[in-house]
Amino acid sequence: MNIILNRKDQILMILLVMTLACLGYGYKPSHKERQMCDQKKCLNKNKTEAPEPYRDPPNQLEAEVLRHIFKTVLESGRAPTIREMEVFFKLSENDVIATLDELESKDLLFRKKGTQELISLYPFSMIPTKHKIFLEDGRSLYAMCAVDALGMPVMFNRNVKIVSQCEWCKQEIVIEIKKGEIVSKSHKDTMIWKAGRPESAPSAETCCPKINFFCSKKHIEEWKAWNPDLAKAGFSLPLERAFPDIKKRWGAYGEILGIR
Ligand SMILES: [Zn+2]
Repeated sequence: MNIILNRKDQILMILLVMTLACLGYGYKPSHKERQMCDQKKCLNKNKTEAPEPYRDPPNQLEAEVLRHIFKTVLESGRAPTIREMEVFFKLSENDVIATLDELESKDLLFRKKGTQELISLYPFSMIPTKHKIFLEDGRSLYAMCAVDALGMPVMFNRNVKIVSQCEWCKQEIVIEIKKGEIVSKSHKDTMIWKAGRPESAPSAETCCPKINFFCSKKHIEEWKAWNPDLAKAGFSLPLERAFPDIKKRWGAYGEILGIR
């Protein structure tokens, strides 16, 4: 069938095609544009709040596995092995690994690539970081970031001393938390720099290294001036303003796992 368009129809057809093109019909963003879009989502989400401890809450078995791992870390300073978890839960090796896979896909833990070795178990890091947490019995653990360091005592209902540093001048920053409250701090104007949580990549590799303490507003401003790209991807809050929200979120995570 031949369709012959008159001049008016041709103009209308051209206008329609142009309108669809302008509306982005059939348009696919490039990888870089998608990354920028993800960064924006990351920023817009929780703009004034702490990053969520979890993207998707764990199911019952995952929560039990997490609780067991956390208890082992708190009691012995190390994570249980796969074999130990098989015995404890009466599960096959495959089922234990499948549960860890699921927890990793929910960004609740992170393993060394190609192994079952736990590197991070939010809020803990199994390898040293600049955020050290001292328990009352003198033992110490590491937190993934400044927010995790503050969330940990609430999540596990522990009294702790956080020893970290100013990201700008590297001066030691000490914060004591007892019964879920900040009872002392080495710098009266302590600030926190927060970066949002990514939509897909593991927090351990993306957000966590960027969430830090600063000894003063002056030092966070100096750091921002020297790191304009990082400054665009986050925001700052005084410690006292950030803490209530961190308490709420990490406290809720502790409740979900039945570990508080
Ligand atoms: Zn400083």
